[in-house]
Amino acid sequence: MYNDRRRQSAAVRYGPHHENTLNNILLRARNMESTLNNLKKEAEYITQRSWVIKKSNLGGRGLFASKFIKKGSLIFTNKPLVIGPRADCAAKTYCSICYVISEFCYPCDKCSLFICSKECGISQEHAKECAFILDYWKPKTPCDKKSKVLNQMLIYLRFFLLNEEQKQLVSFLQKSNNYSDFEELKALCSQYEIPKYQVQFIRTINAMIKLNSFRISESSCKKTIPLRGIFHLSSFLNHSCVPNTRNVFKNDYTMCVFASKDIEIGEEILTCYTGILWCTPVRRCHLKKTKNFWCKCRRCADPTEMNTKLSALKCFNKECVGFLIPLVPLNPETEWRCDNCKTIATPHHVSTVHSVLGSLVGILDLDDKFRLETVILEKISNFIPYSNHIFTDLRLRLALKIGFTEGLKLNGILKFNNANNTYCLCNLYHNAICIILLTMMSNKNLYNNFFVIIIYIGFAYAQII
Ligand SMILES: [Zn+2]
Ligand SMILES: [Zn+2]
Ligand SMILES: [Zn+2]
Ligand SMILES: [Zn+2]
Repeated sequence: MYNDRRRQSAAVRYGPHHENTLNNILLRARNMESTLNNLKKEAEYITQRSWVIKKSNLGGRGLFASKFIKKGSLIFTNKPLVIGPRADCAAKTYCSICYVISEFCYPCDKCSLFICSKECGISQEHAKECAFILDYWKPKTPCDKKSKVLNQMLIYLRFFLLNEEQKQLVSFLQKSNNYSDFEELKALCSQYEIPKYQVQFIRTINAMIKLNSFRISESSCKKTIPLRGIFHLSSFLNHSCVPNTRNVFKNDYTMCVFASKDIEIGEEILTCYTGILWCTPVRRCHLKKTKNFWCKCRRCADPTEMNTKLSALKCFNKECVGFLIPLVPLNPETEWRCDNCKTIATPHHVSTVHSVLGSLVGILDLDDKFRLETVILEKISNFIPYSNHIFTDLRLRLALKIGFTEGLKLNGILKFNNANNTYCLCNLYHNAICIILLTMMSNKNLYNNFFVIIIYIGFAYAQII
């Protein structure tokens, strides 16, 4: 329609002035065409997608299934707005660009951020971060701790570098009420002169990160630190301790959300904000501390945690074979009662046993032959049944250690290709275990074979490769 022949004949008939007008019209027509194409793509996306954003009974807005979603199908993918190290990585020395943990990381001679190699040092990403620090953050005194202080602030620094559209998306995200200073910010301000408006911005970002960030597990294959990321769409996912989705992160940190069970039309799409293998008191306290709410989902409300007995202790009465389980699980101050002899234990007594056991388990280490210190294990087993989350965690640690040990066939196959996407096996392994736990909740016999199943899955992956 807008071909050259027509344009030439118009130019012959009406002269060069008309040709300019015609060019403008052509240009506008082309712009309209591309806008129309974009709208068409958007419409196709909306009709294809299986979710809508609606008000949720769990608070705020949530994602709901707009059509039936089959178990295992991909619900959506979501690129991160920002990613960065987690606050608990402070003790490690890692590269600010590729996140590899290495004692060979060195401070950039301009900005002091840690980098691991020349490639990371000359990357575009580093150039932007380097320039920002040099432009705005003036060092107060010479100090060799600067690199660590800056690495801890990476995620906050990256919010300053977002474009206006991205900043607007961030401004819509929910924030906690706590806008106070935090350790990393105090450390930064002790080393650098930071403009006041930036300190305020960092406080706001911190209030937002607390509620919206997702943990991206460390890669055992590449020895990198665990990260956290802000994902705009995923931040609409509300929490349940029995979620109906699982997340996989691609190598470029794109979050892929899959249905872990069939989801009916109108059902809310949910994720789990805590460790799925943690027991109810630990999960609930963590959610209260980090996300500021007490979970009341069906798993939290069930004294046996849907038959898994992850929180159960052995009855304090030595003659009894029963389990102590919480009387009112949704009340953190509840008494615990034996399901056999009905002996009552105070919450104080139970939490003392939990914390002593927790610290005992913390010092346990696996030796080269994958043995745990049996004396400590025996002591622990006097107080807790094998169903308790402490034993579950130990079994998981042992299984993962075996799975990633040279000579046991899992070490060399950390990646596999699935429809052109490379996923990290550690992620898949972790997700597989979560799925097993959910299955176990409805099948008690499976629970006893948990350890065997994890090892089996490890070897099943070995077979796939
Ligand atoms: Zn690097
Ligand atoms: Zn630099
Ligand atoms: Zn819950
Ligand atoms: Zn008892």
